[in-house]
Amino acid sequence: MPFLDYAPAPESTAILHLRESYGLFIDGEFVDGHGASFQTISPATEVKIAEISAANAQDVDVAVAAARRAYDRTWSRLSGADRGKYLFRIARLVQERARELAVAESLDNGKPIKESRDVDVPLVAAWFFYYAGWADKLDYAGLGPNPRALGVAAQVIPWNFPLLMLAWKIAPALAAGNTVVIKPAETTPLTALIFAEILQQADLPAGVVNIITGAGDTGSLLVNHPGVNKVAFTGSTAVGRAIAKSTAGTGKKLTLELGGKAANIVFDDAPIDQAIEGIVNGIFFNQGHVCCAGSRLLVQENVQDEVVDRLKARLSTLRLGDPLDKNTDIGAINSREQLDRIRELSDVGEQEGAERWTADCVIPKDGFWFAPTIFTNVSTSHRIAREEVFGPVLSVLSFRTPAEAISKANNTPYGLSAGIWSDKGSRILGVADKLRAGVVWANTFNQFDPSSPFGGYKESGYGREGGRHGLAAYLESSGWHSPAAISKGARK
Ligand code: NAP
Ligand code: MG
Repeated sequence: MPFLDYAPAPESTAILHLRESYGLFIDGEFVDGHGASFQTISPATEVKIAEISAANAQDVDVAVAAARRAYDRTWSRLSGADRGKYLFRIARLVQERARELAVAESLDNGKPIKESRDVDVPLVAAWFFYYAGWADKLDYAGLGPNPRALGVAAQVIPWNFPLLMLAWKIAPALAAGNTVVIKPAETTPLTALIFAEILQQADLPAGVVNIITGAGDTGSLLVNHPGVNKVAFTGSTAVGRAIAKSTAGTGKKLTLELGGKAANIVFDDAPIDQAIEGIVNGIFFNQGHVCCAGSRLLVQENVQDEVVDRLKARLSTLRLGDPLDKNTDIGAINSREQLDRIRELSDVGEQEGAERWTADCVIPKDGFWFAPTIFTNVSTSHRIAREEVFGPVLSVLSFRTPAEAISKANNTPYGLSAGIWSDKGSRILGVADKLRAGVVWANTFNQFDPSSPFGGYKESGYGREGGRHGLAAYLESSGWHSPAAISKGARK
């Protein structure tokens, strides 16, 4: 086949109005932080984007106090319908500034513009629209009449979907009547700070949302602050575990959304062409920086060779490079640290005897990159089959029977998501029922909708985000007792 190259099609950055430096967003205004400021860079070029303030203990105190004041004086006194109006306004402003947000996200995070433009930002708006609709209907959330807000929510989010994770956290918290202090990840603070401008534009009362930037120590100060009533965290299992420990016994309500090692199960009767696209989407979307990524392909033995051959052919057509180019499929790895981790685990895969195949792509000179990689001959005991690589690396395992597929799929400390590819509806339902995973996709993968709850089993965390269930994490129910509370009471 003749080699057809694509002309560059970069999205312009002219739409951005970035500042040289950003302060913390506290009580409705940008203020200087008292920690050591840091830079956020583009992982595709390693060029500095802006100087970012860091919050120290004193700043965290001020932010939590602002959130408490806003809760007591304004937000908790508004009707649900009025809170909803603010959320609708935010959703519309996100849509108005969608292109700017998508460009900023791709610049700061490294993800392809077609993903930030077509997935991240539209979902951000959808999340605010969805929870705006709930704000005046909390009585119907299944938590009994008059469920009460918790107060101040401390939220810490990761770098893989910076603005989308912010929306997952802020939208339900505000709809339920809480105020918020949120910390974005150190490597991706940019869109959260543009979002702060959107909050000003929306005239959201001061202090209802406070955005404090900084590294892990700022996150730790925030979740351990005695003035917060609720902690919501998305990130690594190690940090999630530490937060569970330090918040135990404090009375803070906690939800954790941690890592995953999802099985994407392909039966021999699956529509193979669609399955190939689903496998690619499952693990190479967002460079594999996805907690619910389908990082373990379980393929029925009699179609394994065909699936792997077709997969390699498909991966050879993916274009790696400039995240702002509209034709890019695989963007930059978010940080040098994450690149080192992906390299290290991939080397371990080879040392353990798995066979490595890497798509032949030209790697740009600057920035952090990792070409799409597949490991075959992987066994369930290999570290690449057990640990979250959080990169564009797929481990292929095989199975013969549905029972073997289920047992291999469940053979993981995680339980966030799974995929099943088969022509038979009965088989899909039968297998899905036995998978210990919070979300199971059938003949598709990585589908997100604000009305659908998302969350994990085992080391993938607890609590659900999204849907009616996502409200429960931000409400105290009154006049209604959960089955757990009733059985506890009965034992007394
Ligand atoms: P991480 O360290 O858990 O970071 C998540 C968030 O927590 C970030 O905002 C981080 O701040 C903050 N943080 C770090 N230490 C903290 C502490 N002791 N107390 C409170 N907050 C703290 O995750 P990571 O370093 O970005 O990634 C490491 C691994 O986590 C990845 O390889 C992947 O396996 C997993 N991960 C999972 C998800 C997910 O969506 N489930 C997302 C990202 C990463 P800084 O970023 O500023 O340090
Ligand atoms: Mg950055």
